[in-house]
Parts: sequence; C-alpha cells; structure tokens
Amino acid sequence: LLSVRHLKKSYGTHEVLKDVSFDVKRGQVLVLLGPSGSGKSTLIRCLNGLETIQGGEIVFKGQAVPANNERAWRKLRTEIGMVFQSYDLFPNLTVAKNIELGPTKVQKRPKAEVDEQMDRLLADVQLSEYKNAYPRELSGGQKQRIAIVRALAMNPELMLFDEVTASLDPEMVREVLELMLRLAKRHMTMIVVTHEMEFARRVADTVMFLENGVILERQSGNEFFTHPQTDRARNFLESMA
Ligand code: ATP
Ligand code: MG
Repeated sequence: LLSVRHLKKSYGTHEVLKDVSFDVKRGQVLVLLGPSGSGKSTLIRCLNGLETIQGGEIVFKGQAVPANNERAWRKLRTEIGMVFQSYDLFPNLTVAKNIELGPTKVQKRPKAEVDEQMDRLLADVQLSEYKNAYPRELSGGQKQRIAIVRALAMNPELMLFDEVTASLDPEMVREVLELMLRLAKRHMTMIVVTHEMEFARRVADTVMFLENGVILERQSGNEFFTHPQTDRARNFLESMA
C-alpha cells in the first residue's frame, strides 16, 4: 500500500531522517518506536505531506507522489488519516460538524450518507450522545476518540497515529488504545507511534526502531519484543519497562 524510498529530511543542516526506506502492506500494523528526537513525528508528518522532503520518494498505491504536486498531496491527505497527540478538533464546531466537514466539503459526499456513517462511528465509540456537544465539553479521551472517528469518516486506506494517548490522564488512555486495537482487528492499515509498550506488543505486526533518523531494526513485533537485535533497542526496551 505504501512504500517509502530513501527518504531524507533536514531542518537546515540538521539531518533528521537519513535514507529511510520501508513498506507497509494492506492490513498491516507498523509500530514505530525510538527515543525522543529520533525522528518519529517527522517521519509521520512527511508521509502526509506536512513537511517538504529533501530526497527520496513516497509511493502510495503504486504511484509516486511528486514532491511539489500540491494536488497529488491533497488527494493523498484524503486517503491517509492522521491523529496527533494534541486534539486538533475545531473548538468552535460541534462534534458532528467536526466529523462531517472533511467528507462533505473535501470529498463532496452527500450529507445524508455521511451522517449515516457518522452515527455508526459514534455508536461504535459510545459517544452518540455527544453529537451536538462542543469539544470543550468532552474529556481528553473522548476528544481523541472523536478525532479518530473524524479521520475514519473519510474512509482512509491508511491511518497514522502519533502518540495519541501521550497527553491523556491514565484512566483515559485505555479507551483510546482499545479503539485502536479494534481498528487493527478489523484490518485497518496503521502506522502507530506510541510509548505504551504493552499496547505496542499487542497491536504490532511489525516494529520499526528508529534512532537518529536511521532505521536500526525492522522485524515482527514478537521478534522485536523478545529478541531485539541491537543494544540500542534492548536499552530502549529496558528504559520503557
Ligand atoms: P518524541 O519522541 O520526543 O516525540 P520524535 O522521535 O517524534 O521525538 P521528532 O519530533 O521527529 O522526534 O524530531 C526529530 C528531530 O528533528 C529533533 O532533533 C528535533 O529537534 C528536530 N525537529 C523537529 N521538528 C523541527 C522543526 N520544525 N524545526 C527544526 N527542527 C525540528
Ligand atoms: Mg514525536
């Protein structure tokens, strides 16, 4: 589904991603691990065209996405859903409006169809009663679940998650992780950055370990958590335990 080839990204003279290459197959869950500053968020942002890249290419569904073809990136962003650490819901719009906006305005789908899908998605996360609430009336965990629902309403083929539970109170972390586990069970293709190791272990088909903008390891989740190949990864796992 996604193929990243020799991706390079720098900020000024600081090389943050150095020749990063990997593939993601349909239905696969790739967990991206690595120390703070290793380039995880930068990589996620590059995949969505939120950063200009200095080299390499991103191939989605067999087609290279040209770096400066804004139309191609806009289309890509409708096919790749993304959820960040900070809830990025529009504060002045209700939950329903937040969810409907992309599908009706960007994808130009009929409102009735979008609303039907929204009702299903909200029921699935048990937040139907908050349809007409504003983001400020929701807890952090509820906001993150709505942010995920909003991304799902675009019917993305790939979901990117960057530490979506990092700013949540512990009691709200679980409800968000459980939603992500359900998505994985339904074969949603996902790239997940997380510091929740127990969750990572459960959800990962593949783990990719990044350090200083280089992929040090890439192997099955089981292998990574039981037999990390490098000292760096072993130390990382110990520091997270
Ligand atoms: P964390 O686990 O703390 O979220 P990360 O792996 O997501 O870390 P990135 O946010 O991708 O790391 O940052 C990688 C490197 O790029 C860091 O050295 C950071 O200082 C640098 N960096 C990130 N964004 C910018 C920016 N907008 N301008 C300049 N440097 C940046
Ligand atoms: Mg980050």
